[in-house]
Amino acid sequence: MRINYKRLESDLKKIGSDYIINEPMKKHTSFGIGGPVDFLILPSDNSQIPAIIRSINMNKINFIFLGSGSNILVSDKGIRGAVISLKKSSKKIIFDNSTVHVDSGVMLSALVQEIHKKNITGFETLMGVPGTLGGALVMNAGAFGSEISNNLIFVETINILGEKKKYNVDEIDFEYRKSNFPKNEIIINALFNCKKGLKSKIYDKRDIASKQRKTTQPLTYRSAGSIFKNPKENAAGYLIDKAGLKGMQIGGAKISEKHANFIVNLGNAKSADVLELINIIKNKINQMYKIKLELEIKIIGES
Ligand SMILES: Cc1cc2nc3c(=O)[nH]c(=O)nc-3n(C[C@H](O)[C@H](O)[C@H](O)COP(=O)(O)OP(=O)(O)OC[C@H]3O[C@@H](n4cnc5c(N)ncnc54)[C@H](O)[C@@H]3O)c2cc1C
Repeated sequence: MRINYKRLESDLKKIGSDYIINEPMKKHTSFGIGGPVDFLILPSDNSQIPAIIRSINMNKINFIFLGSGSNILVSDKGIRGAVISLKKSSKKIIFDNSTVHVDSGVMLSALVQEIHKKNITGFETLMGVPGTLGGALVMNAGAFGSEISNNLIFVETINILGEKKKYNVDEIDFEYRKSNFPKNEIIINALFNCKKGLKSKIYDKRDIASKQRKTTQPLTYRSAGSIFKNPKENAAGYLIDKAGLKGMQIGGAKISEKHANFIVNLGNAKSADVLELINIIKNKINQMYKIKLELEIKIIGES
């Protein structure tokens, strides 16, 4: 182990944060794909984060943040440096009169369920979107017409110096599956507006969205959701289907027969298999329709 990792390890022990050395990322991604990361850091409480970030910074270690790994493809060689995942950290959801304050490690589906118990509307179609609140804010996750940023008031982050920062919703650009949070700041919590709705309407809308998800997505296989963003011309899945690529398989990865914008892991897929399929799709769609598909998933790690 390199010297700076030794110092990081001793700092993590003092801070009381969990960590795993040389951990296969395939255990921490919805794709079930990915080589080892040198250091996987799993804070158990958000209060540990400033000290962790300060240590990483002082020891000059490369790092990335992670939620639950449901929108990423990690390379077969893995990640050099540290990954900090908030999936085990603080999970507080605090309701006030007309707002809810949520820690970023909270799973989106758990948040939506709590919100619905209070008959709050505006979050119904996010039911079933995998991942943490932090990942959802970075990706501006959404489904069937609504996005996580719709009811947002502010987000709090911790920067590289371990200092807390606050961004009101109008200070962040949210676009389709995109935001511009500073890359080296970790989101720790957010505040949302809560508007009361009619219980029956909320549950109907939520159930319709859940049903649609189950009928259109290949949920029995591991995947990272939609691989490409929908271009303005048409849905990416429609274009891939029309190009005759549905069902194409490379190694253990396959373009889903159920939803052509999903690549599924049949059990032993490598990152390289998925990347090959991605390149085939991009080239064919560009050749046939002169459309450059843009990735929705993030590709991470040593190439
Ligand atoms: C079956 C399936 C269906 C899906 N359906 C949808 C859908 O309908 N709509 C949709 O929008 N998405 C969908 N997705 C994609 C995915 O669920 C979302 O993008 C989700 O919001 C990612 O959350 P995560 O916690 O897993 O983020 P991760 O995949 O862990 O990370 C995503 C990005 O966010 C960054 N990040 C994560 N947490 C933090 C943090 N606390 N601070 C700073 N940066 C952070 C990471 O560095 C990375 O760049 C689907 C995925 C699957 C597997």
